[in-house]
Amino acid sequence: MEHYDVVIVGASFAGLTLAHHLPNQLRVLVVDAKPAAGSTVESTGLITTKTYQLFKTFFPIDDYITNPISAICVVAPNFTDQFVSQTREPWIYQTDTKALVRALAQSVPSHVTVQTKTVFVDAKDTDNQTVVTLQTQGEPARQVACRVLVGADGSHSKVAQESVGLDRNNSFLFGFERVYFGKVTLGPIPAETIYHYWFGEFSLGYGGWLSPTVVDGRPAYRIGLAKLMRERGKASELLKKFTQRLIDDGTITLDGSIDSPDYAFGSLIPIGGVLKHTLAGNRVLIGDAAGYCGAFAADGIKGSLASAKIASELIPRFLGGDMCALTELPRRMDSDYALIAYYRRQMRYRWIWDQMKRDRSFTALFSIIQREQETFVDQFCDSKDTHRSLMWTVLKVKHSMLLGVCGCFVLWDMIFPGRSS
Ligand SMILES: Cc1cc2nc3c(=O)[nH]c(=O)nc-3n(C[C@H](O)[C@H](O)[C@H](O)COP(=O)(O)OP(=O)(O)OC[C@H]3O[C@@H](n4cnc5c(N)ncnc54)[C@H](O)[C@@H]3O)c2cc1C
Repeated sequence: MEHYDVVIVGASFAGLTLAHHLPNQLRVLVVDAKPAAGSTVESTGLITTKTYQLFKTFFPIDDYITNPISAICVVAPNFTDQFVSQTREPWIYQTDTKALVRALAQSVPSHVTVQTKTVFVDAKDTDNQTVVTLQTQGEPARQVACRVLVGADGSHSKVAQESVGLDRNNSFLFGFERVYFGKVTLGPIPAETIYHYWFGEFSLGYGGWLSPTVVDGRPAYRIGLAKLMRERGKASELLKKFTQRLIDDGTITLDGSIDSPDYAFGSLIPIGGVLKHTLAGNRVLIGDAAGYCGAFAADGIKGSLASAKIASELIPRFLGGDMCALTELPRRMDSDYALIAYYRRQMRYRWIWDQMKRDRSFTALFSIIQREQETFVDQFCDSKDTHRSLMWTVLKVKHSMLLGVCGCFVLWDMIFPGRSS
């Protein structure tokens, strides 16, 4: 049986960041079920300025940025009313997700082995070590031994499922995205704008997005929506309708057929908040597996990098005999990155958003935000970097009338969630 110090399940943002940071005296194995690291990546891949800086400390991230984004365009449920909020400096970056994850895997240090087409099946604890069963495609199942097992295997973590004492995510959005060749034409600087569609009744739970990008040197865009789990079956059909609508109103052009995107994927986004138990003995969860994802904004890349970086400092201490070292991880997510406070705020926004059921409630909130368009980007979109709160954008005396109206609509939605207005 092969022996490793650390086995990491999941070769994506969290697992590969950890692999880059573990000290080189450790023998590390990273496994992933996919045919190759980065063959598919279930993420739009927008990263904030701080996440960009985190990447820069260990990886040439500039090579994988397709376009910096300095503006957000918010579109109301009627698809007509919209505003653009802009900053001078980029506040997020669109990445080439597949190339990025592929390069992260290819550039791991020599003490790390990355093995794809390999599924984590289960793990059993014996004296001082854990025996992990792996199934590589086309080969018989095999076992490897390790001293630390890391679940960096995403929202539906198998490591969490197979480990007594680890919690699992149990509340999700279903995100569905397609990448098309074509152009975006809405607003003053489309190539630097991220578009958020407040669908309301059309897509309860989140809404839709449109993010211009470049694929193989050609203009392209990522278009997607996220749905509540109970409506996930409708995601593909609704995304097609959404795309067609934007083609019809001239917001986007499409090179090719709506049924033949360059790339398409769907995946679960954890929105239940940070899990309570992310550590059990020598097993630890990081990234989405631990619930380090914004419940409202559905953003998890920063949490993946942050938790991986912290884990890379704590695992060597744990292996050196400090059995409590890993328990510091959640606390360090807050003290080093202020992320736990951010995730708590995100849970509050999620709660309010989930109460809203009708277009008129979303439209009322939109009309308040619209009045704050000058500073909207500053106050909201990068709030996990700047530690600002969306609440202060909305809760102002000058908005009291509109807040009253919005409050009444939301209250109505809460009392009569199932009826249309
Ligand atoms: C549609 C969509 C759009 C998003 N857009 C953004 C965005 O723009 N910005 C942002 O910050 N966040 C975004 N997110 C969230 C973000 O993608 C995740 O938070 C992030 O990918 C989590 O990284 P991770 O490494 O923890 O897990 P993942 O990226 O989910 O990777 C988990 C890996 O584990 C592997 N794996 C799973 N089970 C096993 C097993 N049993 N054996 C072996 N391997 C296994 C998988 O193949 C996968 O490669 C989006 C999510 C979705 C669904």
